Amino acid sequence: MHPITDSFNRPLHDLRISVIDRCNFRCTYCMPEEEGKSYTFLKKSQWLSFGEILRLTKLFVRLGVTKVRLTGGEPLLRPQLPELIRDLNKIPGMEDLALTTNGALLSKQAQSLKDAGLRRLTVSLDALDEKTFQQMSGRRGNLFEVLKGITTAEDAGFESIKFNVVLQRGINDHAILDLVKYFKGSGHILRFIEYMDVGNCNHWESKEVVPSREILKIINEKYPIKPLGANYFGEVAERYAFADGTGEVGFISSVSQPFCGTCTRARLSTDGKIYTCLFATKGTDLRTPLRSGATDEELITVIKNVWQKRADKYSENRALFRSLKENPQKVEMYQIGG
Ligand code: SF4
Repeated sequence: MHPITDSFNRPLHDLRISVIDRCNFRCTYCMPEEEGKSYTFLKKSQWLSFGEILRLTKLFVRLGVTKVRLTGGEPLLRPQLPELIRDLNKIPGMEDLALTTNGALLSKQAQSLKDAGLRRLTVSLDALDEKTFQQMSGRRGNLFEVLKGITTAEDAGFESIKFNVVLQRGINDHAILDLVKYFKGSGHILRFIEYMDVGNCNHWESKEVVPSREILKIINEKYPIKPLGANYFGEVAERYAFADGTGEVGFISSVSQPFCGTCTRARLSTDGKIYTCLFATKGTDLRTPLRSGATDEELITVIKNVWQKRADKYSENRALFRSLKENPQKVEMYQIGG
């Protein structure tokens, strides 16, 4: 079936589902730990149940979604997650089921995720030295535990694991070549993500962004790389291969080279709102109609209306939005996943 398209003719292909808004880390670029600052999280009763997530995902697949990614907060904090994965994996028409984690709980859960049918894994890993890792995870993470989790995931059979690194100038940009050296030839894929003004908490400043071109130059001087084509329409990472054939590295450049023109991602928050952009200021509630007896057709009408009217291109208009006096509150990344 043909996926529904939005006002810029972008098809609905990807659904990112935040299964929990809580996290065991306090990453500087997402939910920074700050004196006197506390975060309020949803009560369990406000979370979509697995049955509700499954029902909504089936409707999104009927509208064109082929790729589902489970996110958070930290998704591995959601109890019994393998049960949901097992059921999602049975949905006809869904071609890919992936999960993004900070890796802290992988050593305990990797095997059960694999057995449940999780197909791909992405791990956020912003540094390989304990000091920087501590700084970037808000002194909540344990690097050794994450590295142990990665080994457990490999032993469980996860291949081509993607590793996301959010680079912040002056914090972890010294680690670029260490990270490349560590993953080069491993069969896994390292991706550098430009630091973004997601949510309202990270006090983002453009001077802290390390543009992908700069990272690429640093890598190429030491480890020559050459561009690769995209795997599919709407792929966020620009792919490069190591000239010596030892794998690839990617760049996600939302600030310096926005890719809104090919953005095919919808996001479902833990409490059942659909968001059409990572930088959205409001979502559309699906949980209320779902819990008050709406039929599948009625829910499909709501989702269709939201997507077909979609006109988000935040990253392309970042400068304009940030120049606006009235700066509307954006949804937080830990509420809808990256
Ligand atoms: S800024 Fe919004 S529209 Fe642009 S790529 Fe990101 S999520 Fe998509």
